[in-house]
Amino acid sequence: MVDHRKLGRELELFCSDPLAGAGLPIWLPAGAAARHAVEDHVRERERRSGYQHVVSPPLGKRELYQLSGHADHFGDDMFPAMRLSDDDELVLRPSLCPHHALVFRSRGRSYRELPLRIAELGGMYRAERSGVLGGLSRVRAISLNDGHTFCARDQVVDEVVHELALIRQAHAELGVRPSGIRLSLRGAGGKFVDDPAMWARAEAVLRDALARAGVDYAEAPGEAAFYGPKIDIQVRDEQGREQTLSTVQVDYGKPHRFGLSYVAADGSRQVPVMIHRSLAGSMERLFAHLIEVHAGAFPAWYAPVQLEVLPVGEPVAPFAERFRRDGIEAGLRVEVSDGASLGARIRRAAQRKVPYVAVIGEREEARGEVALRLRDGRELPPRPAADAIRMIQEVVAARSAALLPD
Ligand SMILES: [Zn+2]
Repeated sequence: MVDHRKLGRELELFCSDPLAGAGLPIWLPAGAAARHAVEDHVRERERRSGYQHVVSPPLGKRELYQLSGHADHFGDDMFPAMRLSDDDELVLRPSLCPHHALVFRSRGRSYRELPLRIAELGGMYRAERSGVLGGLSRVRAISLNDGHTFCARDQVVDEVVHELALIRQAHAELGVRPSGIRLSLRGAGGKFVDDPAMWARAEAVLRDALARAGVDYAEAPGEAAFYGPKIDIQVRDEQGREQTLSTVQVDYGKPHRFGLSYVAADGSRQVPVMIHRSLAGSMERLFAHLIEVHAGAFPAWYAPVQLEVLPVGEPVAPFAERFRRDGIEAGLRVEVSDGASLGARIRRAAQRKVPYVAVIGEREEARGEVALRLRDGRELPPRPAADAIRMIQEVVAARSAALLPD
């Protein structure tokens, strides 16, 4: 494993600037390209499993976070309020849950709409002290792949099992290797909402779901969210520290605080249960992990540059440029590299961990072919240019870790 901060710099994925502020990294074009590929795919996975996406602002009125309980239980981690006038105070939000509760509340709801699955990849903020900040793993501005499911009580276990399966699939595609799964429970102290019956019920539901999903887990007392127990999928970083990447949490409290209700089949008013979940965690923590796990050599589907074209000699430049354009039109991220010697350009592409390099000489140009070299050193025989693009598209579409189709 390698330190994601060092590799992130070398591969120009992100940078930090003291003038921008500690814990506020800037994603450079290569990092942004990889991140967007991941974001788009996660969004598509969510869409296919019944999520509807919303967009909500990264800040809100102070009262919103008093109602949610964040101000009382999470205040130390929040940035101080921005006071515009006596009755107009805004805070950078510490989580997306309150906005999503308002989405549920934006009109009357019927049992027929449940489970109602709301998702957003949105910004949230944490006032971490500057001493603990570093790279992408501890930041003050967080882009969370978040989602909330509002459901009836008898739907909760099914939903949690469904979420665990989605998380497993997303991790397999990303190449995330969890170090363990834990059931985070309430501990001593005033950090947690005081409602023993609620905690007991939520804990029983999560144990039931874990058993049904056939998942081994360890208990972690004191690691729950302030409002409820949670299932945490853990990853380990280069220094051996464990961090939570993905979570599923069951919350019986916030729907009451926000006065959420729906009309049940018998016409009565019922309060939904809120399930908080993240498939891939925050983009920052996810990429800190992915950079280290893959040593920067991401699977082709989210590699910043997927195909680098190396023309040998000026006469083949137009063919190389046409090939680049065809790749771009086919949805790939393609660059042409010229100037230096072929050997130097091949080494540079290897340093950048580009999965496919296409060498184009006069012979290839004459036949309309390209010779692909793979990141792992394998060289493929020349093939028609369109075939090469199709093959890469196939690997990308399969979200495969391998560089050749099955
Ligand atoms: Zn939430």
